[in-house]
Amino acid sequence: MGRRMSSRFVAGMEVEDVLKAARSLQAQGIASTLDSLGENVNTPEEAKRHADIYHRLLDAIASRQLKANISVKLTQMGMDLGHELAREIVSGLVDHAVAAKTFVRVDMEGSEYTQPTIDLVRNLHAIPANRGSVGIVIQAYLRRSEQDIAGLLADGIRIRLCKGAYKEPPSIAFPEKADVDANFVKLTEMLLTSGIYHGIATHDEAMVEATKRIVRERGIERKSFEFQMLYGVRRDLQRALVAEGYNVRVYVPFGAEWYPYFMRRLAERPANVLFIAKNMLKK
Ligand SMILES: Cc1cc2nc3c(=O)[nH]c(=O)nc-3n(C[C@H](O)[C@H](O)[C@H](O)COP(=O)(O)OP(=O)(O)OC[C@H]3O[C@@H](n4cnc5c(N)ncnc54)[C@H](O)[C@@H]3O)c2cc1C
Repeated sequence: MGRRMSSRFVAGMEVEDVLKAARSLQAQGIASTLDSLGENVNTPEEAKRHADIYHRLLDAIASRQLKANISVKLTQMGMDLGHELAREIVSGLVDHAVAAKTFVRVDMEGSEYTQPTIDLVRNLHAIPANRGSVGIVIQAYLRRSEQDIAGLLADGIRIRLCKGAYKEPPSIAFPEKADVDANFVKLTEMLLTSGIYHGIATHDEAMVEATKRIVRERGIERKSFEFQMLYGVRRDLQRALVAEGYNVRVYVPFGAEWYPYFMRRLAERPANVLFIAKNMLKK
């Protein structure tokens, strides 16, 4: 039942499932970022087991020459058990990504993790061998994000900009969609004019259009950044952007721990609940 419900947004339960999805996206001219689902682990052993899956993915990306990288959550790498544990584990992944000529994106979670995540990524990126091989996510709904971006750009760090998927209080996050959107556009302009390769992660056509306008008006090369979308969301838009000559990367999650991810996707768009329910009835 869980598998069937989640299959719209989750590529499968096994490593081979996600690799197959990445291969199929690649055939359509779309790159991927692979996410082995899981968050907030309870023991260091659990964190290391999750990291082992990512090591297998990195080996497969290199050996199968996939246009893919990995997306990692710090709470899955043991952040709640100790920052040093998470740093050590992610550092091992970044070393492996450098050897595999790919990249580690550290996802952004709830606001209690914002500063520790920035600190950890900056610390790893400061190691010369890691330069350009580890990046971060910034959420446009947070009031602090403009300042955070300024600091990260000064370090030359690659950023994925998204609106933000966690419940945050108005004291730290814009409560109104219009303000989040306005901030998203402002931050997109900061990123696209920085000369660094960033990801603009949205399915919102208004945000996509605003990005294209910045590209036109500021004379930005279409291949100097990428649009990013989630697996199973707005596949029509993904294909249209590829046809227009933009780089597109899809975030492809897989694994048994699909529930929190799936619930965030449903919360983003109530119509998804109906969509899933209809598919369940269809068999
Ligand atoms: C590649 C990628 C990585 C992400 N990484 C993170 C992260 O690290 N941390 C984090 O907090 N958030 C992350 N997010 C989630 C993000 O913060 C938003 O919650 C999510 O993308 C919805 O915002 P939106 O920009 O698509 O626009 P919204 O304003 O939410 O939606 C605009 C329109 O997009 C379409 N749409 C949006 N979501 C869906 C959906 N689930 N199903 C179907 N249609 C939809 C609908 O047409 C909707 O009307 C990521 C998103 C992407 C695309």
